Amino acid sequence: MTGEQRPGERVTPTFDVPSGSAADRTLVPGRAAGPDRGARLDRVRQSNLATVLGIVHTEGARSRSGLTQATGLNRSTIAALVGELVELGLVTETEPEGLNRVGRPSPIVAPASRVVAFAVNPEIDSVTVGVVGLDGVVRQRVRRETDGVPTALEAAALAAEVVAELRAGLDPTGFVVGVGVAVPGLVRADEGLVRLAPHLGWVDEPFARQLADVTGLPTRAQNDASLGALAEARFGAGRGVDDLVYLNGGASGVGGGVLIDGRPFSGRGGYAGEIGHTLVNSSGVRCHCGATGCLETEVGQAELLAVTGLARWQADELDAALVAAPLGSPVAVEVARQVDQLAIALRNVVNTFDPELIVLGGFLGSLFGAAPERLVAGVTAQALPGSRDDVRIVRAALGRDRLMIGAAERAFEALLADPASAVRGA
Ligand SMILES: [Zn+2]
Repeated sequence: MTGEQRPGERVTPTFDVPSGSAADRTLVPGRAAGPDRGARLDRVRQSNLATVLGIVHTEGARSRSGLTQATGLNRSTIAALVGELVELGLVTETEPEGLNRVGRPSPIVAPASRVVAFAVNPEIDSVTVGVVGLDGVVRQRVRRETDGVPTALEAAALAAEVVAELRAGLDPTGFVVGVGVAVPGLVRADEGLVRLAPHLGWVDEPFARQLADVTGLPTRAQNDASLGALAEARFGAGRGVDDLVYLNGGASGVGGGVLIDGRPFSGRGGYAGEIGHTLVNSSGVRCHCGATGCLETEVGQAELLAVTGLARWQADELDAALVAAPLGSPVAVEVARQVDQLAIALRNVVNTFDPELIVLGGFLGSLFGAAPERLVAGVTAQALPGSRDDVRIVRAALGRDRLMIGAAERAFEALLADPASAVRGA
């Protein structure tokens, strides 16, 4: 199987998933007639299965009556859908505790622990591989150091080795949906081609295909910050928020991801969201991307570490060091300078996307933690009224699990879109 064979798409006709309210998606027998009717009912069932699985995936165990409420579908429809998901091995159903309650208890539906995805994150000095459950919990994580910056083929071979080791320890009756990869670079979303990963030195590397070849598992890849945005939106600081912008500051720069109406905004080729390369200082320095005055050149972890006297491996201590800096100290002056530059970028974000929430991760979260009022005031003073009025700025919540969870989301995508086809086609 190659990386681009998505099980959910092999046996399914190309239908658009119907949109609209949950009530619109309730089965209405007899509304359509003739040859279209079967296809329509099948499409509605597929969409309903996806809806129910999606709820227990992101929100965890729910009672059947809770699912009835959340979807607007009737009880017998929910019972049939849950029954099918149990049969597919994707959810489990258990009797709730406390059976002495009055009335018939509603069974609890939870993601099946047998369903997992692998997550892979190649970096300049290591490859990290994780096992992530359908409940979004990182079960295992293995980080392998590399001798220098790995080539794409080296990273694929190392990742495959770890995947094989981890797989040997999994439930043999389990279902591995595939591999999701978080790449620190520009990735063409449809085929997982790494167009450019500047810090890895990768140019036009078909990494998803290379990894699929050596693991034998369907593999999808995406930009790391876009996946971080997805993870925070579904399981972290942005839970329940449909319009958010996520910015992460790491050792190698600033990445961004945008979620609109609950979906990743990826642009035509999958490259959108590079807020780190938007202009904040027209008289600034030249960026590695070729432009001048990018956010990424104006804010940096290295400068914060240098001014606080911390080494790179002490990045976790940055928060405390920035907060403790006395007023007027070199640390406080540098924090103020970077916060002001970040405020300019966030002004652009607010004016462009009108998000409900801005989530800041990595050292950008540390900057916000050190001077929250200054950042909020800077954004409020500069952004347009309307979109600036209700926007909230928060720190990312998932910590180091973020990229593993986001990468796994990419791997779960086909299953979540069409559960029955993904299982039967695997
Ligand atoms: Zn740039």
